[in-house]
Amino acid sequence: MIINKAYKFRLYPNEYQRELINKTIGCTRFIYNYMLNKKKDSINLSNFDLIKQIPALTIEYPFLKEVDSCALRCALFDLDNGFKKYFNKKGGYPKFKAKGVKDSYRTNYIKNKYKDKVYENIKLDLINKKIILPKLKEVKIRGYRKLERINGRILNATISKVADKYYVSVCIEENLDIKEIIPSSVVGIDVGIKSLVTTSAGTTYGNPNYLNKYEKRIKRLQRDLSRKIKNSNNYYKTKIKLEETYRKLKNARIKTNEEIVSKIVKENDIIISEDLSIQTMIEEANKHARKSITNSTMGDIIRRLKYKCTWLGKKFYQVNRYYASSQICSRCDHKEIKMKDLTKREYKCSNCGLEIDRDINASINIMVEGLFKNYRFN
Ligand SMILES: [Zn+2]
Repeated sequence: MIINKAYKFRLYPNEYQRELINKTIGCTRFIYNYMLNKKKDSINLSNFDLIKQIPALTIEYPFLKEVDSCALRCALFDLDNGFKKYFNKKGGYPKFKAKGVKDSYRTNYIKNKYKDKVYENIKLDLINKKIILPKLKEVKIRGYRKLERINGRILNATISKVADKYYVSVCIEENLDIKEIIPSSVVGIDVGIKSLVTTSAGTTYGNPNYLNKYEKRIKRLQRDLSRKIKNSNNYYKTKIKLEETYRKLKNARIKTNEEIVSKIVKENDIIISEDLSIQTMIEEANKHARKSITNSTMGDIIRRLKYKCTWLGKKFYQVNRYYASSQICSRCDHKEIKMKDLTKREYKCSNCGLEIDRDINASINIMVEGLFKNYRFN
């Protein structure tokens, strides 16, 4: 099976490389915004039309010549994807990119032969801890200490800047030899509001406290930033601190989610969760619950579960999100309409008398529903 996997490294550019990365980020943002503006006048311009305009644009704006031309094309592919999402009603109308928001650029892998010499524009050397990137040449990297080589084909690299730190994410197409295992255990997963994950085995995983700590700090820094004079020295100092805290929060969340997912996948062969649409949940939930839903990382957990199961040859199923997992009694199948109310934490069945934690009841239902709808019994 072929899968795409991203390897993210810390990048240590020298002063010249740093300047060039910043310039490239600026140029990709410029071309993205420039073409977005053009699209406003004539929405029918295809991506091909836009790419054809790059050479003329580099004459008008010579600074575009200094950077990796492939990154410029990638920016236009991103713009095109933005419009595709918009037309398929999967996203809003593409917005102009602002400096300091997702500062990054992507470039594609190119390989060609010239007089029997193979030329590659992106090359990863894990033993000597360096990467060759277009125009930048060799840059020092750090990460994946134990990894000596990657078996697969490089597809592209994304160079990003967060506060004063640089990163490169290398996307690799790997060919995996996955052995399907014969399942011997099954678990239902309810991802939710009160606790992050509840399993049908009765285990709950909550939001660790340090996540709250970071969220509080972010709020404080946002408040500080709004009081600072825009573009002053102190403004930038606070902004860097804020970005740094965002990054820490994001990393802490990823780590927490990864730990939860690893444990669940290690202990079970068939994993079943809801196919949830966060949007619907936000609409359905009451005001009080809204904050924790948007703040939590339910979607991320499900993505990781799916990925890890595929990777290890285990089964991952999802039940329809309209399946009333929280209203049905996991013992007698009676439907308790009043359980729609999310503030009710205890499930009480008026038919059989079962009293059980709301989320555990839901996860058992999810397990049973998913197993009978998806798994082929011999
Ligand atoms: Zn019942």
